[in-house]
Amino acid sequence: MKRKYTRADFQMSRSDRDRLKGVKPVMIRLAERIYRLFPQQFDRRILRLRIDPRGGKRTRAVQRLLFETGASKTMDSAHLKGEAIDFVIQIKINGRWEPIWEKQLYVQLYHEVIAPAAEDIGIAIRWGGDWDGDLASNDETFFDGPHVELKRAA
Ligand SMILES: [Zn+2]
Repeated sequence: MKRKYTRADFQMSRSDRDRLKGVKPVMIRLAERIYRLFPQQFDRRILRLRIDPRGGKRTRAVQRLLFETGASKTMDSAHLKGEAIDFVIQIKINGRWEPIWEKQLYVQLYHEVIAPAAEDIGIAIRWGGDWDGDLASNDETFFDGPHVELKRAA
């Protein structure tokens, strides 16, 4: 049976919108597209998408904090320019939504939702699960499944 979707399924929550303040419009368009595709690939009764609280545009102070605690590996982050977003998958456990970090889930998210969304919009992106873009996620020294950024011109 084909599932029915309501408008709410395709919309970002208010807190997600707030977390995207300062992010470049093209990346916000990408996020909207990703939110639209997500419930078509994942079971929305148990899985949903949220923007990480520090997953939008960051100040240098916030970036330094994340860098110093090892949560980020660079001070040259695309988050500083509003060109990156961190999409966190949440799972419903005992009625509560908790973030889930299972690598395979983020690989699936990229291939079934993020990459097609970028293609729909016509932009080139770089994913934190495959920094070098070689289509393999087993050679990454730092697997950052939630991270998506605009691809910089070479
Ligand atoms: Zn990130």
